[in-house]
Amino acid sequence: MINRIRENVIKDLKFDPHDLACEELRHVYRGKSSGKLIVLFSGAIVAGMLAWDIGWFYAGVWYAWLLIAHAWHWWLGRLDWASANVSIELARINRHVMAAAIAGLGWGALSIALPLLSRPSKAAVLMIMLIGVIMALPRLVVFLPIFFAFAAGVYIPLLLTTPFLDYETLHMVLFMLVLVGATLWATAREIRKILIDVLLKQVSSEQASWEDRLTGIGNRRSFDANMATTWAQASRAKVPLSLMMVDVDFFKKFNDAYGHQAGDECLRQVATALDGCARRAGDSVTRYGGEEFAAVLFHTSLNEARNIGENMLAAVRKLNIRHEQSSHEIVTISMGITTIVPTVDDNVQQFIEEADKSLYRAKENGRNRAEWKILGNVKRN
Ligand code: GH3
Ligand code: MG
Ligand code: MG
Repeated sequence: MINRIRENVIKDLKFDPHDLACEELRHVYRGKSSGKLIVLFSGAIVAGMLAWDIGWFYAGVWYAWLLIAHAWHWWLGRLDWASANVSIELARINRHVMAAAIAGLGWGALSIALPLLSRPSKAAVLMIMLIGVIMALPRLVVFLPIFFAFAAGVYIPLLLTTPFLDYETLHMVLFMLVLVGATLWATAREIRKILIDVLLKQVSSEQASWEDRLTGIGNRRSFDANMATTWAQASRAKVPLSLMMVDVDFFKKFNDAYGHQAGDECLRQVATALDGCARRAGDSVTRYGGEEFAAVLFHTSLNEARNIGENMLAAVRKLNIRHEQSSHEIVTISMGITTIVPTVDDNVQQFIEEADKSLYRAKENGRNRAEWKILGNVKRN
């Protein structure tokens, strides 16, 4: 059940399994650490009983072990909690698992002392183990390796000592196992659901902030980011960078004639067609705003960009969307292209303005076409 949900998260959200593991690990440590005070306090009560029944030395050793193990576990949690959103190395995750096992063993070791304890102490120790485990495991279950490590630490020594227990203690132990098992089963499912909700919200809000909701391609924010990085890369590598500003022709008339819904559908189709024409690494097609799109093409000469532009013009014509108010009778686009090898003297804003001016010329010269301009000292090819 748990693993099936996990697999769905990985598949549906395209989550990297390692990222999911890191996210789960952080959830183990979320919230306040008041649980540690309870460990400290209940540990002290148990240590008192051990001291009474089997001597101060053993009680001291046990309590020290418990404190050190829990402090280590807590410290590791603090470290990785602080580095939120950063991938946690596998070796570090293993350290968490080890710390959980040692902390679990701290509690599990108590069962070795069970046959030696007096009746009231035995009942109290089992009760404290029960409460502690019920409190700890539902949270640890978010990250299964830690859960199993802790549970193994507690249960293996307990199971190993059952042959040496009297009938009454055995009943108490069985009661504990069944109760904890049932509690876990119920809480595990709830916690998984919460975690998946959190992940879904996180992933979708991250995507939403870069994606245009109507067309599914990058939005204006994505354009600005791409433009800035591509500009810097082209400048460093001294290679040409091309920009295409694309605008749908007579789109206002299209909306007026066929309605806004049809206009939206048209934009979706145009976006997909444009995106399909610029698919090399370093190409990006985004919705610049309204019925305008922009393509940023890294390491692309003017002639290459013109070829891609021709493909885009043809791809939109090929959609064959009827538009009776247009002189072409179908939906078409116009585009302005600029190419530059950026240097320190150039600026992005001017580069974009030049593409806009070329687009304006394309409109003036009859639409359904591309116009272009080379900036600076750039070869056409
Ligand atoms: P031109 O050929 O000169 O570009 O003419 P045009 O009518 O396309 O130019 P204009 O900029 O005047 O009109 C753009 C229209 O695009 C106006 C606006 O209603 C429409 N539009 C902008 N965004 C959307 C949208 O998200 N959905 C729809 N359906 N229409 C949109
Ligand atoms: Mg426009
Ligand atoms: Mg237009």
